Amino acid sequence: MNNFDTIIIGAGPAGMMAAISSSFYGQKTLLLEKNRRLGKKLAGTGGGRCNVTNNGTLDDLLAGIPGNGRFLYSVFSQFDNHDIIHFFEENGVALKVEDHGRVFPVSDKSKTIINALEKKMLDLGVTIQTQTEIVSVKKEGEAFLLRSQTETWTAKRLIVTTGGKSYPSTGSTGFGHEIARHFKHTITELEAAESPLLTDFPHKALQGISLDDVTLSYGKHVITHDLLFTHFGLSGPAALRLSSFVKGGETIYLDVLPQLTEQDVLDFLKKEREKSLKNALKALLPERLADFYAQPFPEKVKQLTAKDEEQLLQRLKSLAIPVTGKMSLSKSFVTKGGVSLKEINPKTLESKLVSGLYFAGEVMDINAHTGGFNITCALATGWVAGSLNN
Ligand SMILES: Cc1cc2nc3c(=O)[nH]c(=O)nc-3n(C[C@H](O)[C@H](O)[C@H](O)COP(=O)(O)OP(=O)(O)OC[C@H]3O[C@@H](n4cnc5c(N)ncnc54)[C@H](O)[C@@H]3O)c2cc1C
Repeated sequence: MNNFDTIIIGAGPAGMMAAISSSFYGQKTLLLEKNRRLGKKLAGTGGGRCNVTNNGTLDDLLAGIPGNGRFLYSVFSQFDNHDIIHFFEENGVALKVEDHGRVFPVSDKSKTIINALEKKMLDLGVTIQTQTEIVSVKKEGEAFLLRSQTETWTAKRLIVTTGGKSYPSTGSTGFGHEIARHFKHTITELEAAESPLLTDFPHKALQGISLDDVTLSYGKHVITHDLLFTHFGLSGPAALRLSSFVKGGETIYLDVLPQLTEQDVLDFLKKEREKSLKNALKALLPERLADFYAQPFPEKVKQLTAKDEEQLLQRLKSLAIPVTGKMSLSKSFVTKGGVSLKEINPKTLESKLVSGLYFAGEVMDINAHTGGFNITCALATGWVAGSLNN
């Protein structure tokens, strides 16, 4: 029998949590996923370790969600990051908090998180069907009618959790936007967010170097976080966050020693006078980066002229990096834009246009920083969309 109370399309974090909540509230629930496995994108987050949430305060959460975070006040009053932590701990997953409040499973394996979600769904009686791509959705009377190439299902409630349009190889190809359009919803402009930056820079020499808590700035936008040099430019949280403020054609500035003042650096050089500049800098920076910074200057610290010192300080504290562009939407971590929030009830996440239709996760016009904030949005909105408690 293919008749359910609630059907959910898409088994990312939003869809799996919506299925848990819906069945918890007594709904006969079906979760449909086109991939063979659940949570393919989720599995790749946090470098494959699954950055399941962030343990900050509500203010931290809202600061981590630059794209329409305030829409989520009501959602977070029902289910927030601390409920997420509680949920996983109650379901046997030991968690740990790393820098910047990022929460991971102690196992350092995404599988631990995905297995816990799957087990909870099965315990609650959710029917899970993978390798099933939904190709059309319509509403006939009170019921939604869903079709794959070979099957048909009906349900009174439909929750769309198909994600955005970034990394389409994980399954998020924008089908949810098509469903929304079919039901006359507005889709705001889709753009790349949390995008690696393409830069005009000696990539080969520096690729693979990662730095903790350096400062990247563009005008008034000053971001201190981790940074990764890649073969095309810059990635890591500092670059991803700054990507919201640049397009290409700008110059950004890198301070690799934000914890030291210029005077601290000068005092340090004074103490290291007898060393080669490269060896002295190795105490402060990874070896290849020390090489890069030392290269244009005389070999020994004591050979530096006042002008050299000034130029070295400028490079260390404010290295100019021309940005030539950003990665495209498909290669960005997050999609900005989606189903317009003006047409979604913030308390229930039900469509204001079609009763029984709900949205959760990245398919909506909400985007957040990496660091667990998107996943928090997905899990929290999933819980609320599945819930019958509001
Ligand atoms: C490499 C990478 C690293 C990231 N790191 C972080 C991080 O550290 N912290 C953070 O907060 N966020 C991170 N993100 C973002 C985060 O993973 C997403 O915001 C989050 O997964 C969105 O969850 P979702 O459930 O809304 O959608 P998704 O996880 O995209 O899930 C949508 C699901 O719907 C399925 N689907 C789509 N169409 C259909 C259809 N027609 N029929 C059936 N199924 C369908 C898809 O196959 C997919 O499984 C990262 C993203 C990427 C790409």
